[in-house]
Amino acid sequence: MTGEFIFGPVNSRRLGISLGIDLLPYKTCSFDCVYCECGLTTDLTFERAEYVKTDQVIKDLRAYLEKRPELDYITFSGSGEPTLHTGIGRIISFIKDEFPEYKVAVLTNSSLLFREDVQNDIIRADLVVPSLDAVTEEVFNKILRPADGLNPELILSGIKSFREKFRNRLVIEIFIIPGFNDTIEEISLIKEFLINLNADGIQLNSLDRPAPEEWVKPVSEDNLIRLRDMFKPLVVQIIRRARRSSAQNVFHNDAEDTIIAVLKRRPSTLDDLVYAAGINAKEITVYLEKMRDEGVIIEKKGIRGLFYRISNRN
Ligand code: SF4
Repeated sequence: MTGEFIFGPVNSRRLGISLGIDLLPYKTCSFDCVYCECGLTTDLTFERAEYVKTDQVIKDLRAYLEKRPELDYITFSGSGEPTLHTGIGRIISFIKDEFPEYKVAVLTNSSLLFREDVQNDIIRADLVVPSLDAVTEEVFNKILRPADGLNPELILSGIKSFREKFRNRLVIEIFIIPGFNDTIEEISLIKEFLINLNADGIQLNSLDRPAPEEWVKPVSEDNLIRLRDMFKPLVVQIIRRARRSSAQNVFHNDAEDTIIAVLKRRPSTLDDLVYAAGINAKEITVYLEKMRDEGVIIEKKGIRGLFYRISNRN
């Protein structure tokens, strides 16, 4: 199923079969990260609002979940920071009250975690993944390019106070940008903070698809391992690209919509699409050629080969 707010389900490297919920108009975010796979932020803000109608999201979600699809997670992510939406708490409560068999994940850039209303809104999630890419002001500003008023102290205090009240799984994600946040100083300061945090997991991530800024480079495998070791005794997991799933074709028939839904959120190779959409390569190729000829998507050479993206994106 692909709707305005609901996308997928897609096969996610970290979350398994994941139904995505995207609550923000493209591209509203409190950061404008140099590595963002959705492209440059056009509405840079940390103002909370009901960016899309909460009632409509709940209506669409109910219609979908009533069919009892097989899902590992319902995930709040997409093309912006999900906690900017003031209805996120109501939507999570709706899922937990009416469809308690489904697990909820929130992927957040941590920028609003200092707010008590945001903490309360996401407290019923089963998994929250806050990002923490930098703790010094200089690096923070360079790679995250935040909305005015956001700074590392606010982010660190937000993550810390949320951890104190959140009883479910909290996994910190660190996205490594070589030459910026992979220095001994930055890693040591991040580690110092994490040692006292009591997170349930820490993950290192790095670029594997085109970033909005061409100068952002991927991290070599050796360097990722070196960085992981710098966090010892903390246990850090390196996020690797998922292998193809055996769960092919478990999803739905609206292949073209699914491909568009994935490409709207991130540039992808043919392999990525096969994995995410659970559709075979031959079928996807037919759709990609058609969409390319119609000008809906464009191709671009990238780190891992030919990437496809929606043509009106950055
Ligand atoms: S990576 Fe996440 S936090 Fe950064 S600009 Fe993109 S959507 Fe916003």
